[in-house]
Amino acid sequence: MSRQISGKTIVAGVAGQPVWQSLSPLLHNAWLETAGIDGVYVAFAPPADNFRDFAHGLRGGAVRGINVTLPFKEAALSISDRATPRAKRADAANLLLFEADGSIIADNTDGIGLLAAFALQAPGFDPKAGPVVIIGAGGAARGAAAAFQAAGAPEVRIVNRTIAKAEFVAGALGECGRSFHLDEARGALAGATAVVNATSAGLINGGRVEIPLDATPETAVIMDMVYTPLITPFLQEAQALGRRTVDGLGMLVGQAEPSFEAFFGRPPPEGIDVRALALAAVGAAA
Ligand code: NAP
Repeated sequence: MSRQISGKTIVAGVAGQPVWQSLSPLLHNAWLETAGIDGVYVAFAPPADNFRDFAHGLRGGAVRGINVTLPFKEAALSISDRATPRAKRADAANLLLFEADGSIIADNTDGIGLLAAFALQAPGFDPKAGPVVIIGAGGAARGAAAAFQAAGAPEVRIVNRTIAKAEFVAGALGECGRSFHLDEARGALAGATAVVNATSAGLINGGRVEIPLDATPETAVIMDMVYTPLITPFLQEAQALGRRTVDGLGMLVGQAEPSFEAFFGRPPPEGIDVRALALAAVGAAA
């Protein structure tokens, strides 16, 4: 990259712990360069137990905004001064904007990204057609649950290792929410139109959650939010069963697009295939 940093460079970034594996800097900087915008997007790794001090240090607009990834999404919402309805519904934020008046605005674009990925990779999938299952009950799961509910899913089933968290997330959905312990996953999968792995189990070390995907209907669409590798063992198993799959990269790009517009004031430019760039970075075929 040959971009110059100037006295007017807009700074944005992503905060996570760990964050080195994030592809967000690659996507946003490719868009910035293509659009000729005087901006830069960097990665931050605040201390896992002190997101508050980190975020308050950015108040005032020196940094325009940040995406927030695990484990800070709930903390990001809690330190904000104002939040969009979708961030409140998700009870988590993946986007913070630092306003010139010192205030912090929280938003959540994960749900937009999730539904964009389904639309692109599982054409014809209809969230209204039946129950959807989300494995996990963290920030990403909440965003997904709120997005499916808003898109008209008649039932959202939350399956989690820690049942109290599943109950909490399902409870926030009202009549549409149901909670299951991980040991009860088979029952939760019966009749599901979609299953989304929103756990962090496979994020870094290849660990995985054992889910009996054979209990899903043949028409179910299976998604993994993890995208390294692109086809995770979870998606491999789904494909071996003949299910349609959606990968986490589609969601990453889908949530990054509205984030970019929030940071830099215009949508990402056309004419650059950031998915191909990201695939090359994770060593996968396009
Ligand atoms: P989080 O808030 O830390 O939640 C993690 C969830 O994973 C919890 O429900 C946790 O269960 C569960 N979990 C972790 N290890 C597990 C294991 N070994 N067995 C069973 N369950 C386990 O994380 P998050 O922010 O929601 O993110 C979740 C995942 O989504 C991450 O991999 C993240 O990278 C991915 N993500 C991807 C995108 C994208 O654009 N593709 C966007 C957002 C997030 P307990 O409650 O029992 O601890």
